[in-house]
Amino acid sequence: MKVLIAGGGVGGLTLALMLNARGIDVQVFEQSTEVRELGVGINTLPHAIAELEQLGLLPELDRVAIRTRRLIYKTGQGLDIVAQPRGTWSGLPSPQFSIHRGRLQRVIHDAVLDRLGPDSVQTDRRLVSFDDTGTGVTAVFENRRGEQFTETGNVLVGADGIHSAVRSMFYPDQGPPSWNGILMWRGATWWPQFLDGASMIVAGGMRHKLVLYPIAHDADRPGEALTNWVVCARLGDADTPLPSREDWSRMAPAEEALKMADEGQLSVPELDIRALIRATDEIFVYPMCDRDGLPRWSHGRVTLLGDAAHPMYPVGSNGASQAILDARDLADRLAEGGDPVAALAAYDDARRPATAAIVEANRSGGPERVIDFVEERAPDGYADVHDIATAEELRAIVGDYESLAGFASPGT
Ligand SMILES: Cc1cc2nc3c(=O)[nH]c(=O)nc-3n(C[C@H](O)[C@H](O)[C@H](O)COP(=O)(O)OP(=O)(O)OC[C@H]3O[C@@H](n4cnc5c(N)ncnc54)[C@H](O)[C@@H]3O)c2cc1C
Repeated sequence: MKVLIAGGGVGGLTLALMLNARGIDVQVFEQSTEVRELGVGINTLPHAIAELEQLGLLPELDRVAIRTRRLIYKTGQGLDIVAQPRGTWSGLPSPQFSIHRGRLQRVIHDAVLDRLGPDSVQTDRRLVSFDDTGTGVTAVFENRRGEQFTETGNVLVGADGIHSAVRSMFYPDQGPPSWNGILMWRGATWWPQFLDGASMIVAGGMRHKLVLYPIAHDADRPGEALTNWVVCARLGDADTPLPSREDWSRMAPAEEALKMADEGQLSVPELDIRALIRATDEIFVYPMCDRDGLPRWSHGRVTLLGDAAHPMYPVGSNGASQAILDARDLADRLAEGGDPVAALAAYDDARRPATAAIVEANRSGGPERVIDFVEERAPDGYADVHDIATAEELRAIVGDYESLAGFASPGT
């Protein structure tokens, strides 16, 4: 059995490691000329980390990331709503990690090269077409010079992100991703650490929001953390045309993010977010977008995985996490050794409904709905959140989401 994977992101590379661990031959094709540390911060949930732990990656993740200790929801003006322990601090067997997205990809990529060999990930190979012959798959990849390379395997997995070529070949009329009118300005810079140096803050609802969390420590920078921040602002609605194509590398001036923070009157007592934004060298802007669910991911010997299958709004930390869970399910089914077409169909049956529910929940804010709920009840603020909402009401919103996403802690 040989599996061809188009896309060397977190999803495709994790699948490669898992298939290799099950004795299945695998080859990854990545369109970029090299795997570089792109992106800013990302959170990876405990059930997905449990999978990476099984692959032996925990020590390396601990070296480059931070075990998220607490997630604190606040109003946009910094009033506390509810705080939740995360990962092992909530009683789960595995940690949650706050990590630079590029470092997460690097850790998995290095493990693939180490275990599968230096040729296992071929870069500068963009999938341009494929043919399911009934007994196998032939895939054509192209490099920057326009040269084409034909590869054959038993199965092809499209792990090629939100602009998946594989997906668009099955669904040529799907159109662009749908935008909810929210833009996100994102950056990371070294900054004096706030709270315990391992906590995450989400402040503000769906109109204006601030997200803050540390993603790395450095022994040479005591008392500081590489601090990831996101400022979100709703600039339109579902009918507003996308301002530009979704591109995780699009840069923006600091003034734009500062203007949005001011418009939303965003502030928290833990740190001066305006100073943090001004100190950030590279600021990226990205539209919050997803795609509608599909009637099928698997077609014969070809399937989709990760963002190619279920791009979702980045609330609730599920983007990379669900790609890793997809990989586990698919690897297990292919390892059973039966008909690969049946394995791909069973994977589709299991993972498509589970992830569709998260895509849907994220459209109404996911766990962060708790902030809108409180801001609606008390638009002018409060002395104590329990004057306006019960602990059960607050816990129900965040706890329901955790159950849906499959990582509810014992106390939820
Ligand atoms: C450059 C980049 C930066 C990101 N930064 C962040 C971030 O800061 N925060 C966040 O929450 N999420 C970020 N994301 C999204 C996040 O990585 C995903 O939501 C999540 O990790 C799921 O990953 P995935 O492997 O399914 O898709 P992706 O991470 O999107 O990986 C898909 C891979 O497929 C490759 N590819 C695309 N088309 C083809 C093709 N035709 N042939 C071969 N290869 C192809 C891409 O180059 C990419 O490496 C980023 C994604 C990218 C690509």
